[in-house]
Amino acid sequence: MDLFEYQARDIFEKHGVPVLGGVVATTPEEARSGAEELGGGTVVVKAQVKVGGRGKAGGVKLAHTPDEAAARAEEILGMDIKGHTVHRVMIAAGAKIAEEFYFSVLLDRANRSYLAMASVEGGMEIEQLAVERPEALAKVAVDPIVGIDEAKAVEIAEAAGFADDIKAQVVDAFQKLWTVYKEEDATLVEVNPLVRTEDGSIVALDGKVTLDENAGFRHAEHADLEDKAAADPLEAKAKENDLNYVKLDGEVGIIGNGAGLVMSTLDVVAYAGEAHGGVKPANFLDIGGGASAEVMAAGLDVILGDEQVKSVFVNVFGGITACDAVANGIVGALKVLGDAATKPLVVRLDGNNVEEGRAILIEAAHPLVTLADTMDGGADKAAELAHASV
Ligand code: GDP
Ligand code: MN
Repeated sequence: MDLFEYQARDIFEKHGVPVLGGVVATTPEEARSGAEELGGGTVVVKAQVKVGGRGKAGGVKLAHTPDEAAARAEEILGMDIKGHTVHRVMIAAGAKIAEEFYFSVLLDRANRSYLAMASVEGGMEIEQLAVERPEALAKVAVDPIVGIDEAKAVEIAEAAGFADDIKAQVVDAFQKLWTVYKEEDATLVEVNPLVRTEDGSIVALDGKVTLDENAGFRHAEHADLEDKAAADPLEAKAKENDLNYVKLDGEVGIIGNGAGLVMSTLDVVAYAGEAHGGVKPANFLDIGGGASAEVMAAGLDVILGDEQVKSVFVNVFGGITACDAVANGIVGALKVLGDAATKPLVVRLDGNNVEEGRAILIEAAHPLVTLADTMDGGADKAAELAHASV
């Protein structure tokens, strides 16, 4: 989960990383009072969107008085930055910048380790720096057990070429940013820019933090950081039911068990769709091992809630959960859904107890259900049904 800058700022502050005051505002009026709260001096009005390069896009503006802060907020609120609408701004205390640096620590999957990166040429886009002047970007592997202790922080600061007179402060900041990374179970902590102000202090002026959702059970408080307004309502509903669901842009709803099977089902349906008006898979949905009636009903409910869906292809391989249990799940789900089930369902079962499973579906003879013998045949039928009702 990516955080907004103001959320990253709060987390930095909690762990002692030097930051400046910041207040969130959703209206120009709130921006004005936020600027007053910060002392009435110079502030920076910053668009809160989860995308980089806000500065260049006009989403970061200086304001010298609370009135100016309100005016800048008025301009920035509602702006579109790379497809993200600005609903909030942060009013941040202004800093007199002498130098801009870069620091990040992230999960380095390829090397099964962590990686710290630092540069004394911050401010510009780091992707650009990495390409144009790779020698200016220090990359230092971080042992996950040891982390960034003082010795490692010194190594990073020296690799990046930080000046001696600020080294001690920078080393302290790196260690605190590591605390953020570790204590919050982050997969990315990035500061761009980390600045030296004219009076010689080191401050994190912009923060980007990605939290590891797999560690959510250790952080009840992280649930509050979720941007519920931005979540796709179907994906939110699926999440509530612990379903692995990703909305796509097609007409054929997909339910399967096991991520691999669902992925190949998407491919087969996309291929079959070419012969039926170009219909495409509408989603990824893996109901996992236990295809009970409740799980099947929850899955179908999410998929049928997608207005674009015209047919559903249920493709299940009976393993630990045998096909008869899955068939009972489907029949039970259709009962639970009642009139809410309105779209044709093509079901292909294979594997453990397949005959019993098919017998249950034939016996139930639900008018919306068509049985398919093969995955290709099922995909073709589901695509045909979707095309017929587009
Ligand atoms: P980004 O463009 O999305 O990365 O947004 P940043 O928060 O990094 O801001 C972009 C740039 O605005 C920074 O690199 C700074 O040069 C400038 N900036 C941000 N905050 C301040 C501030 O308090 N004072 C001054 N003078 N400039 C700032
Ligand atoms: Mn930045």
